[in-house]
Amino acid sequence: MKNILKSSNIRKIVFISLIFIIILGLSVLAGNVKLRNVNIKFSNNQEITVLTSKTKISDILEENHIVLEEDETVTPGLDAEITNTNKIVITLKGEEPSEIAENANTEINTEEIIEDYTNITEKIETVIEEIPFETVTKDVSNGSATTRNAIIQQGENGERKVIYKVTYKDDIEISREELSSEVIKEPVDKIVQVQTKSVITARSGYSRTSGISGQSGIYKVTAYCACMQCCGKTNGITASGAKATANHTIAAPSTFAFGTKVVINGITYTVEDRGGAIQGNRIDIYMDTHAEALQWGVRYVEVEVLN
Ligand SMILES: [Zn+2]
Repeated sequence: MKNILKSSNIRKIVFISLIFIIILGLSVLAGNVKLRNVNIKFSNNQEITVLTSKTKISDILEENHIVLEEDETVTPGLDAEITNTNKIVITLKGEEPSEIAENANTEINTEEIIEDYTNITEKIETVIEEIPFETVTKDVSNGSATTRNAIIQQGENGERKVIYKVTYKDDIEISREELSSEVIKEPVDKIVQVQTKSVITARSGYSRTSGISGQSGIYKVTAYCACMQCCGKTNGITASGAKATANHTIAAPSTFAFGTKVVINGITYTVEDRGGAIQGNRIDIYMDTHAEALQWGVRYVEVEVLN
C-alpha cells in the first residue's frame, strides 16, 4: 500500500514537473523566435526577400518552395546556416557567386514587427487649397519718367480640391501622399498697368485741361463710402436705386446720365450716384471702406467718358 502510494506520488510529481518544463521551454522558445529578412538571388539574377524564422539554407528554400535545378548550386551550401549577410545566392554550376556582401544584420524579432505595425492608420482626406493669384504688370508708360501703377483687374485666389492619403502613427502624421487634385476655381490674375502719370496739381494749371462736365478730361476726383459721414445714411443705396459697389459705382453730376461708363485709372466705372457737392468737373468714386476713401483723398485725374 505504502509503496503504491509512493510511486503514484512520484509519478504525479514527475508529470507536473514535465508540464512545467514544457511550458518553460515553450515560453523560452517563443521569446527567442527570431525573424529575419533573407534575400534570395536566383541564377537569372531575379531577387526576392523572404521573412523567415529558419536558419538552415535548405529549410529556408523549402519553406519558400524553391527547388534547385540540376545545374544549379547554392551559396552558402544547403546544409549550412544562414550567415549574418542574410543572403542566399543560387548560381549555375561553375559560376562564382558574385556577391555575398557583408551587410548590416537585419535580424528582427516578432515584437519589433508587431510594434512597427500597431497604431498605424491611413486616412483619405479631402482638402480645399487656395491657389494664390499672380500679379501681372503691363507697362504702357512708353518709358515716361513719371509713372503710376493702376490696378486694371483685382486678383482673386483660386481653389483646388486635393485628395490625400495621410498615414498616422499614434495620431502623428508621418506621411502624406497626393492621390488627386482638381481645380475648382481658376485664380484671376491681378493686372497692374504702369501708366504715364496724368495727375496734375491745381498749381500746375489743371483748369487748362479740366473736363467739361459729361465729357472726357481732367476731373477733381474724390472718394466716398456708405457711412453716415459720407452719405448721411448707411444703406449704400445710390441715387439710381442700385446698390453701391466698389470698383464700379461713381457719383457724377447730372450732366452724366445714369449708366454712363467712365474710365478712371484703367478701371471702368458706371455713373449710378449723385452728390450735393459733385457738380461741374467733379467725380466721387464709391469705395468699400471709409479708410480707403480717405486714402484716395483728392486727385486730379484724367477721366475718359465712354458713352
Ligand atoms: Zn465714409
